[in-house]
Amino acid sequence: MPVFGHDALHALTRAVCVAGGSAPREAELVADNLVQANLAGHDSHGVGLLPTYVRSLDNESLRPNRHAEPVRDRGPILVIEGGRGYGQVIGFETMQLGMARAAEQGAALVAIRNSFHLGRIGHWAEQCAAEGFASIHFVNGVDHPPYQAPYAGCDARFSTNPFCAAVPGGRDGPPVVLDMATSKIAFGKARVAANAGVPVPDECLLDPEGHVSRDGAVMFRELRGAMIPFGEHKGSGLGIMCELLAGALTGGLTNQPEHSQAHGIVNNMLSVIVAPDALAPRDAVRREIGAAVAWIKSSRPRPGFEEVLLPGEPERRRRDVRLADGIDIDPQSWRDIRAAAVAAGVADDAIDRLVG
Ligand code: NAD
Repeated sequence: MPVFGHDALHALTRAVCVAGGSAPREAELVADNLVQANLAGHDSHGVGLLPTYVRSLDNESLRPNRHAEPVRDRGPILVIEGGRGYGQVIGFETMQLGMARAAEQGAALVAIRNSFHLGRIGHWAEQCAAEGFASIHFVNGVDHPPYQAPYAGCDARFSTNPFCAAVPGGRDGPPVVLDMATSKIAFGKARVAANAGVPVPDECLLDPEGHVSRDGAVMFRELRGAMIPFGEHKGSGLGIMCELLAGALTGGLTNQPEHSQAHGIVNNMLSVIVAPDALAPRDAVRREIGAAVAWIKSSRPRPGFEEVLLPGEPERRRRDVRLADGIDIDPQSWRDIRAAAVAAGVADDAIDRLVG
């Protein structure tokens, strides 16, 4: 299995983006987000997305060098038009605007509509948490056929609609970051499994007839299967609320056949950003978070488990390991990434130089 240093993948991603027309700062932000996802262990949202991004540049469903454009601005409310720009730029700029507004108003209600793929949503919550802000994010996905079936349904009706919430850590501790698809697995995990020729975990996918399947490829055939929501009716309900809050309330779109699709990945996101001292004194809040976290983690592990982890802890641990040991990419995904880099205009020998 090829293994790469994070800085090599960062350099390759920057080169692909620049070849695709991006300004250097945009290329940097895209590389930060994708490589951080790989480091966190979410290869579904890492550099393996480059083939999709290059294809989307080609059919113009992704448009380089767009910026977060406020189209409604009232008190704590900001609505941002993403113009199908890179989500890594639209997301970053929107969080900056949202935090500034929350600092002024105590909290901000921020909507992004029509951004290209926002990547790993935890990245945006971490950007807020690093500045001391708590945040909640509801996301839906459009511009492509639906992937996820509602509870009790066979047919996909919405995307894998992630939900994310984060609070800064207690005292000097790391933030607590819950960041998850509302389907049992993220869509990209079906791609990664299909590429690697390994089955997905049980009870995650349905074949087109509605039978449970472990073959990630069912999501890539002309007659598609569907992804199963986590947590039965509760996860399905959260996915539906993401669809309605992010897709309808923001003025973005829900994933319906009446809307045209360019087969890109467009995200809409509704975020609540809360300033550090908005609800109670910052020190008291952080002390309480620290105590609660220690109490929760002190629960004795059940048989079959080694320890109790907090949301965000698995990602931090994988980041430490991958920073030290490198990022492994399965051979099929690497061939696809390489072909995409060449298609974007990065020469073969330049790729070799960049990844060493
Ligand atoms: P996951 O199932 O690996 O993790 C979900 C959450 O559970 C994380 O917060 C993680 O820290 C926590 N967790 C995992 N194992 C744990 C354990 N043993 N103990 C305690 N907590 C644990 O994540 P996922 O649902 O596969 O999502 C992967 C990524 O996909 C996310 O970053 C999400 O934002 C992204 N995503 C993006 C889109 C999009 O349209 N942009 C769509 C879907 C998913």
